[in-house]
Amino acid sequence: MKKVFNEIDKTSIFLSPNKVVIGKGVSQQICGELKALGGQKVLIVTDEGVVKAGLVQAIEDALAAGKVDHTVYAGVEPEPPVRVVDECARIVREGKFDAIIGFGGGSSLDVAKAVSLLGTNKGNILDYVGIDLVPFRGLPKILIPTTAGTGSEVTRVFVVTDEADNTKKVIYSNYVLPDVALLDPLLTLSMPRPVTADTGFDALVHAIESYVSVNTTPFAEILAIQAVSLIAHNLPIAYSKGSNIQARYNMLLAATLAGMSFTSGGLGAVHGLSYPLGTEYHMAHGRSNAIMLPHIMKYNLPGSLEKYAKIAAAMGQSVDGLNPFEAAEKSVDAVKGLLKTVNIPYKLTDYGIDKDAIPKLVEGGLKQARLFVPNPCDLAEKDVKHIYESTF
Ligand code: NAD
Repeated sequence: MKKVFNEIDKTSIFLSPNKVVIGKGVSQQICGELKALGGQKVLIVTDEGVVKAGLVQAIEDALAAGKVDHTVYAGVEPEPPVRVVDECARIVREGKFDAIIGFGGGSSLDVAKAVSLLGTNKGNILDYVGIDLVPFRGLPKILIPTTAGTGSEVTRVFVVTDEADNTKKVIYSNYVLPDVALLDPLLTLSMPRPVTADTGFDALVHAIESYVSVNTTPFAEILAIQAVSLIAHNLPIAYSKGSNIQARYNMLLAATLAGMSFTSGGLGAVHGLSYPLGTEYHMAHGRSNAIMLPHIMKYNLPGSLEKYAKIAAAMGQSVDGLNPFEAAEKSVDAVKGLLKTVNIPYKLTDYGIDKDAIPKLVEGGLKQARLFVPNPCDLAEKDVKHIYESTF
């Protein structure tokens, strides 16, 4: 019998929301889903960009038609600060809302997750930073992504920016998983090209990191390699022809699969070392991951040659007849080619950052050493420095 998975000696866990629905127009099912959850007074958590794209009105119309009492909070900011969560949580508590709709990119979905918890748990969101520290299930929540990238609609984690010390704080809990995720590709058609590119790469990084993670699981592997293939074949189309619904559908599916994958298999050094680009230079989450991806893949190749060769093949590269290292290296070529197609430069000099930044980047990257544990190759401080140097 062909041995496919290497994890038979360990226990593997797969977690996902109760219900995930995908299809054109499924966001219009919102009233039925809310009624099933008992939601009668609902807060829609979103941002101004999503409102301006004209997407919120259709949800409001559906809620009005179903006579569901609702209010829109559109104050979410990118990489959401605790200040925004505090403000939105106050509205939830004072307004006695009984259900939350997260509607937007990962920033809006993450704030929706946070305020759903704060609707039933005391205190401030920073009280719950860490793993499984939330005592009570939150208010019912439905998450509706309008970007195809973060996978936040299916994960048990969210991230907030603590402006007090300019760090990102992460909250993990099974109560963070939504009750329902509605994946409607029509909502992603209006994404501008840079958002399509950055979020698409965010999903690709989730898939690749969870696939090669030393903590991967059979669930993660199956979902991740499918997501890699979908992204490689559909991101160029979604980027160059934003109205292509099939490509948008496939990207939304891929992002969700990748979110499920990393929930099960974990992440790695790309997330760790992209972190200071977000905190120091306020780069979008997906962009900072995209920049670091080819450099860290190159470093990681020796730790997982066979899997990187499979990633290359999934991305459409021919690996027949190559030795294991050459085959694995093709995955880096494929990623660089995709970055070029969607106009994402992967040298830090292209972002006005110069080599003087390296010590600060190393210091910030080392603070995320927990993400080096699942990485297929170990990283010491000199390796982190070497990787950042390779980005110039
Ligand atoms: P985002 O939510 O910050 O949105 C980026 C921009 O795109 C915003 O200006 C928004 O208004 C706009 N936008 C969103 N959808 C649009 C659409 N359909 N049409 C036009 N404009 C649209 O970006 P993101 O990359 O989706 O999310 C990033 C956030 O997600 C970060 O805070 C990151 O930490 C978080 N994240 C969370 C998880 C998780 O599992 N919880 C995973 C990865 C990332």
